Amino acid sequence: MLKFVGTPQAFPGKRAPMLRAEDFREIADRYAPPAAEDQAGRCSQCGVPYCSVHCPLHNHIPDWLRLTAEGRLREAFELSNSTSTMPEICGRICPQDRLCEGNCVIEFSGHGAVTIGSVEKFITDTAWEEGWVEPLVVGAPRGQSVGIIGAGPAGLSAAEYLRGHGYDVHVYDRYDRAGGLLTYGIPGFKLEKHVVMRRVDRLKEGGIVFHDNFEVGRDASMTELRQRHDSVLIATGVYQPRAIKAPGVGSEGVVDALDFLTASNRKGFGDAVPAFDDGSLDAAGKHVVVIGGGDTAMDCVRTAVRQGAASVKCLYRRDRANMPGSQREVANAEEEGVEFVWLSAPEAFLSGDRVTGVKASRVRLGAPDASGRRAPEVDPDGGFDVPADLVIKALGFDAEDLPHLFGAPELGVTRWGTVLVDNKTLMTSLDGVFAAGDIVRGASLVVWAIRDGRDVSAAMHKWLKAKAAGERKAA
Ligand code: FAD
Ligand code: SF4
Ligand code: SF4
Repeated sequence: MLKFVGTPQAFPGKRAPMLRAEDFREIADRYAPPAAEDQAGRCSQCGVPYCSVHCPLHNHIPDWLRLTAEGRLREAFELSNSTSTMPEICGRICPQDRLCEGNCVIEFSGHGAVTIGSVEKFITDTAWEEGWVEPLVVGAPRGQSVGIIGAGPAGLSAAEYLRGHGYDVHVYDRYDRAGGLLTYGIPGFKLEKHVVMRRVDRLKEGGIVFHDNFEVGRDASMTELRQRHDSVLIATGVYQPRAIKAPGVGSEGVVDALDFLTASNRKGFGDAVPAFDDGSLDAAGKHVVVIGGGDTAMDCVRTAVRQGAASVKCLYRRDRANMPGSQREVANAEEEGVEFVWLSAPEAFLSGDRVTGVKASRVRLGAPDASGRRAPEVDPDGGFDVPADLVIKALGFDAEDLPHLFGAPELGVTRWGTVLVDNKTLMTSLDGVFAAGDIVRGASLVVWAIRDGRDVSAAMHKWLKAKAAGERKAA
């Protein structure tokens, strides 16, 4: 129980910054089995495990840590998979320092948290290699079908559980590959793509039908989907980039983060990407400025480094302590040569034929705002120019106008444009139409999308059973 005193915290080794900046492979090595067992053995098996309380999936963390420490890896895998559809993905990309590990009692005792995410990744990666990951178990056919709009983690998780209940499941996505932001947003150095694709393949083999390149609103309206299926799930994520209102923002060479990251991920798949191939979305040899301080901005700066940028700077209007992005990611970016220009905001984009730099103002932090974060105030006396030939805007995302896009004006939305759901039933204002993931919460985390997919599948199952019973009674 006190092993954490004698066994220091040890994350799996990271590749050297110079080496990892040359490719898009994940930066962390994997534990060798003895190290995973040793690190799992540091858990003191708390009676009230705060790690699990703060994991959105309430994973049975101490139990699978104990099984790992005892070398009972297959059982650890089965337990870990009982609450999550993609534990090896969460183990890689959850901001553990804010969730499970940030709330581990050993962290508070000053000995360094149990390395929960790395062990979680180790368990399920091992299971894939050993062939312990079973095909999807499909329930007895129910004769009812479900249409899911969006193949991100929320849609995929709901699809897996609903297929398990015996429904015919159809997933529609406007992209040519499933996975949502796991595939086209998050770069390979955080999450290698074969890790996502093997999950998608397993779902396909389990009989879930994927309709790629199918955009709801263009290829079918919401009304048509509701006629096709007994129930519909909206899991479309949020894709409207937040705008910067500053002179010159429309100049050539000022690009949106997701366009930049999607192009890079597509190149990783070997696709032809004209806007990358002609240099517009390629940072090679360029002085790059990324504007923003969240996860997306961190992914952009580190992608630019790997593409061979001449220099990479990140401009953010707050300081390090008040940024939304993970501190681990900032440290990784700094190791890789990214320069952070804290307390600075863009005033204008300098340009001739194309962008040549960013005119920035200095910012001071004022009193905390309603969210508790200190509000930035422009310092009228401080201004400076940063030369750049590629500027990437990474200020976050809002919801698209779904009622308009889907031809469904009666679909209720919040004042932020996210889809309104009833807290108990998770149903939208349209009967039999549910919603989950970022499109309900606003831009959030993969682990919350998985949790929402799990919850909404249970709500849909309940509603569909009641519908079938009602139809039987009426017949
Ligand atoms: P998405 O993953 O966005 O999937 C939605 C899917 O719906 C997409 O495939 C889209 O093509 C499809 N779609 C949209 N509209 C339509 C339509 N009309 N018709 C058909 N299909 C449609 N979270 C973390 O936990 N850790 C991280 O490290 C992390 N890094 C991130 C990095 C970036 C660059 C970004 C942008 C986000 C990151 N996130 C991270 C957040 C995380 O990716 C999201 O919270 C999560 O993917 C949301 O899942 P979702 O299923 O709701 O939506
Ligand atoms: Fe931690 Fe995320 Fe895994 Fe939960 S899902 S145990 S928060 S890494
Ligand atoms: Fe183990 Fe830390 Fe969780 Fe306690 S909080 S059960 S020590 S991982």
